[in-house]
Amino acid sequence: MSNEIQQLKRLSAPLLAWYDENRRVLPWREEVSAYRTWVSEIMLQQTRVSAVLPYFARFMAAFPTVEALAEADTERLMKLWEGLGYYSRARNLQKAAQIVAQRYSGRFPETYEEIIALPGIGDYTAGAILSIAFGKRVPAVDGNVLRVAARITGSRLDVLDAKNKKLFRSWMGSAMSAERPGEYNQALMDLGATVCLPSGKPLCRICPAWDFCAAHREGCQEELPVRAKKKEKRREHLTVFVLLREDEVALRKRPNTGLLAGLWEYPHVPGTLNEEDAAARLSDWGMTPLQWEKRLESHHEFTHIRWEMTGYVLRVRGEGPDGWLWTDEKARRRLAIPSAFARFTQEIENTYEERE
Ligand code: SF4
Repeated sequence: MSNEIQQLKRLSAPLLAWYDENRRVLPWREEVSAYRTWVSEIMLQQTRVSAVLPYFARFMAAFPTVEALAEADTERLMKLWEGLGYYSRARNLQKAAQIVAQRYSGRFPETYEEIIALPGIGDYTAGAILSIAFGKRVPAVDGNVLRVAARITGSRLDVLDAKNKKLFRSWMGSAMSAERPGEYNQALMDLGATVCLPSGKPLCRICPAWDFCAAHREGCQEELPVRAKKKEKRREHLTVFVLLREDEVALRKRPNTGLLAGLWEYPHVPGTLNEEDAAARLSDWGMTPLQWEKRLESHHEFTHIRWEMTGYVLRVRGEGPDGWLWTDEKARRRLAIPSAFARFTQEIENTYEERE
C-alpha cells in the first residue's frame, strides 16, 4: 500500500467523528434522494452554498420530481436558473431528466457507467450520487477534496493534471470508509469548505487531521496543493446596445449552442465602437437614434473568457432585424437574461425610474 493511501486511511475515523459533530445542515441532506443529491451537486458547481440555497428551494418547489423536470417548460427552467450562471448546467439537467424519465421510468440508475453517461454528470457528481444516495463506496473528488488530500499526504503532484487527479481519486477510493461512504464524502466536502480553507488559511488547530497531516507537520500548507500556472483568460470586447422604444427594450435570442445558449440578450457586436461607429451599426439594422442617454462600461468573467463590454443606452425609432423582440418590463421579467448583462438591466430600471 502506498504511503499516500496509508496516510489517507488514518483520516477516516477522526473525519467521521468530526462530521458527526460539525456537519453543515443543508436541505439536500435532510431528505436524501438521488434526484435531490444530483440537483444540489450540479447547482454547487462553481457556486457557493449560500447562493445555492434559495435556488434549490425554488427549484424543488417547481420541479419536485425527475418527471416534473423532464416535462418543464424550458423558458421557466431558465428563468428559475437566472443569476446562478453556467446555464448549460440547467439545460443538461433537463436533458438528463428526460433520459431518466424515459429510459429508466423515472428511477435514477445506480451504476457508475449509467450515471456518468447522463448529460452534465462528471466523475465527481457521479461519485457524490452513488455514495450519498445509494451508499456505494465511490469517491467524489473535486478541488476541495484534492486540496485536503494533497495537504494530508504532502503530495507535490500538480492537481490540475488529469493523470494526477486520477491518481488522487484512486487513493481516495482505497482509503475511504466502507461503512459510511456517503457521509465520508460529505465530511471531506465540509472539511474542505470550512476548515482546510484555500489560500493558505487552513484552520489546522480544529482539524481532525491536525496530528498526522503532512502539510501541517511541515508548515507548508500554503504551498499545497501544487497547481501549474493557469492560462490567462481570453478577452473579448463587445459593444452592447440597450435600445429603448417608449417602454420597450430590444432583446434577441442567443443561438441554441455555445456560450449562454438559448438565453436572451441585448443586441451587441464584437469590438469597442465609438458613438459614430455605433450609429452606423444602428443604421445597418434599420434603426434611427433619437437620443443617446448614456455610455457605460461593464465586464463579466466566464471560465475561460472575460467579456469587456461598452454599452450605449439610447432611444431609437425602428423595428430592427428579424428575430428581435421588443419587450416591456412584464415580458422581460419572464425571460432569462444572463447575469453577464446585469449592469445593463440595472441601467434600464434606473432610466425608467428617472422618467417616472
Ligand atoms: S491539518 Fe491543516 S492543512 Fe492539514 S488537512 Fe487539516 S486544515 Fe488542512
